[in-house]
Amino acid sequence: MKKMIRIVSLFLVTLLMFSQAEGKVVIAIDAGHGGKDSGAVGQQKLYEKTVTLSIAKKLMTLINKDRDLKAVLTRSSDSYISVSQRSEIARKHKADLLISIHADAAPNRNAKGASIWVLSTKRADTELGRWIEKHEKQSELLGGAGDVLSDGDNPFLSQAILDLQFSNSQRVGYGLATNVLNEMAKVATLHKRIPEHASLGVLRSPDIPSILIEVGFISNLSEEKLLRSEAHQNKIAQAIYKGLKSYIVANPINKENR
Ligand SMILES: [Zn+2]
Repeated sequence: MKKMIRIVSLFLVTLLMFSQAEGKVVIAIDAGHGGKDSGAVGQQKLYEKTVTLSIAKKLMTLINKDRDLKAVLTRSSDSYISVSQRSEIARKHKADLLISIHADAAPNRNAKGASIWVLSTKRADTELGRWIEKHEKQSELLGGAGDVLSDGDNPFLSQAILDLQFSNSQRVGYGLATNVLNEMAKVATLHKRIPEHASLGVLRSPDIPSILIEVGFISNLSEEKLLRSEAHQNKIAQAIYKGLKSYIVANPINKENR
């Protein structure tokens, strides 16, 4: 009888652990550039690719300490990956959100401050058009529903669902960006106080709500110094984590829909 109880409780604990792992919100962290693509280079030769990877790893550690979240990196070393590969990696890990980390540069060396970019409507429409053309891609984007829809061969319904998915991604991305900006304002200068819309790099995955964070200007000498420091990198990673957490707590992500 005792043995039976032990087996049953072991089973229940395993089940509980499994269901918790299943329920975790997956955050893809994308360290911009890498390998042959160094990104922007500071006046004191700090490489953007180095800063982005360092902050990405710090953010991953913070996220993985949180029992409700799980982080995956698109790259964990100084290696080159294309923009489309980055989205594919996030999709493969069933990421619920994608946070891409970059550092800014401008010919005007006085330009400074952090900013956050979200997917532009124009870009979403272009991507939508491209995906509608590639019929097989739809199933991938729509998950289980996609198979049913491609079988039924109802392009209007598929398009309606994709439209919904895209506008949801934009809404979530904008909300997340706003929360992260609020936290970043406490530890860094902001270049722009509200999220900006763009067709930048990894913001090309409208099925995964994505934000692109420019953590500061590497072309600005004083910000280059800050970005090189572990202490400042930690502050930025913490601000991103806090903004992310507050967004998820206020807007729980329904895993059932993905
Ligand atoms: Zn960059």
